[in-house]
Amino acid sequence: MKEKKTTMTKQVYIKTFGCQMNERDSEIMEQMLAQSGYIPVGEPTNADLVILNTCSIRAKAEQKVFSLLGSLRKQKKQQPDLRIAVAGCVAQQEGEQIFRRMPHVDIVVGTQQLYQLPEMLGRLERQETAREISCDLEKEFIIPPFQKLLQDRPPQSAEFRKFVTIMQGCNNYCSYCVVPTTRGREISRPVADILEEVRLQVNRGIKEITLLGQNVNSYGCTNAVAEKPTGFAYLLKMVAAIPGVQRLRFTTSNPQDLSTELMQCFQELPNLCPHFHLPVQAGSNAVLKRMNRKYTRELYQEKVAELRSYRPDIALCTDVIVGFPGETEEDFAQTMELLETVRFHGSFSFKYSDRPHTRSADFSDKVEEQVKGERLQRFQSRQDAISLERNQEFLGKTVEVMIESCSSADPSEPFQMKGRTGSNHIVHLRSSTQLLPGDLVLVTLTHAGQHSLKGVLKGVLP
Ligand code: SF4
Repeated sequence: MKEKKTTMTKQVYIKTFGCQMNERDSEIMEQMLAQSGYIPVGEPTNADLVILNTCSIRAKAEQKVFSLLGSLRKQKKQQPDLRIAVAGCVAQQEGEQIFRRMPHVDIVVGTQQLYQLPEMLGRLERQETAREISCDLEKEFIIPPFQKLLQDRPPQSAEFRKFVTIMQGCNNYCSYCVVPTTRGREISRPVADILEEVRLQVNRGIKEITLLGQNVNSYGCTNAVAEKPTGFAYLLKMVAAIPGVQRLRFTTSNPQDLSTELMQCFQELPNLCPHFHLPVQAGSNAVLKRMNRKYTRELYQEKVAELRSYRPDIALCTDVIVGFPGETEEDFAQTMELLETVRFHGSFSFKYSDRPHTRSADFSDKVEEQVKGERLQRFQSRQDAISLERNQEFLGKTVEVMIESCSSADPSEPFQMKGRTGSNHIVHLRSSTQLLPGDLVLVTLTHAGQHSLKGVLKGVLP
């Protein structure tokens, strides 16, 4: 039961599901609500406001949202003034339906309307409305007022890296994907705003910037971004040139829009990290066609070869869907072959699931669940073996590592540290030198596991 409140501060609990875009949106909501006196708490039971920032990329993700909403019904009975808000892709996809299924929900706010949250809450608190909903998809990129929020917000001690959203939406309409429905058409944010936010972040002590978008490769290609030239490679060079950006990353990309100019950035920009997430989804051209992925396995492999010609040590990761409608054993064998040929450092792989408002949901020849599960297990166990072999290639090398955490359970013991290489590999090390998140160090790698590396501290970089 929630403790009796003594002060006027209100407490908000934000549960984030899904991708980095949602993580960034949750941060923005937290920052905006802080202006209205909300402080973040770690448990829903202590909150005055609970926000579920949802994902609908797979059926499972959506089910998790509704089961959590079900459990909040009980808390709302005991705490009638509790406010419950649903944001993100399920909010955008379901809209009013959420009120019908979960009448105890107060606010439904879509993917492009989260900046309205403080006003929506205000109207509820002043009892001008009984519930609030806003799910419009915009034509222009709404610049949230967080430039100002950032200026007023002192850097948090362990904060050293930040996501910076550069665009929203996607125009690719892959036949299985909800994103074009839940996040709308591609809208690129003006270069000047992105550069200003990066400068603000760097001035706050941030050292690593990750540029975010559903398909960053087509940045600036759709809506008229004021400045000329545009395009993602141009933006990448502008951000990389900002003093203080020690590490630069971006996610995520569609292979069809991967340009030579962008690939050359991995050779030209010293602070662009040698890690690339390039979703292939399947290794069979027949399946890629039915997915409406506008490239072939041959073109994908050509682009990988070209990318590696500019940056031979680049770590390549991907996404794969197994059991897409109509996928035969031969089709799946081609996905396994592609894995053998490209030898990805890592991958996220999933069983296909029908999603609302997608074309593939109406495809007839669905693959049985048991077959999907068996194929996923085969793909993942082979990927795990390759990831270990790839990690063993680092043994004996001395690499740059950015520290993420440093702790010591017992003062007489060396510090336990975790960090990440430019290639996005996790590194564990122990040392008597205490380091801070964001510190750059040199580490000689001595042990390679499937998911991480271990090493010895060789030096601290300025
Ligand atoms: S490119 Fe990615 S986000 Fe866009 S429709 Fe395809 S899978 Fe979805």
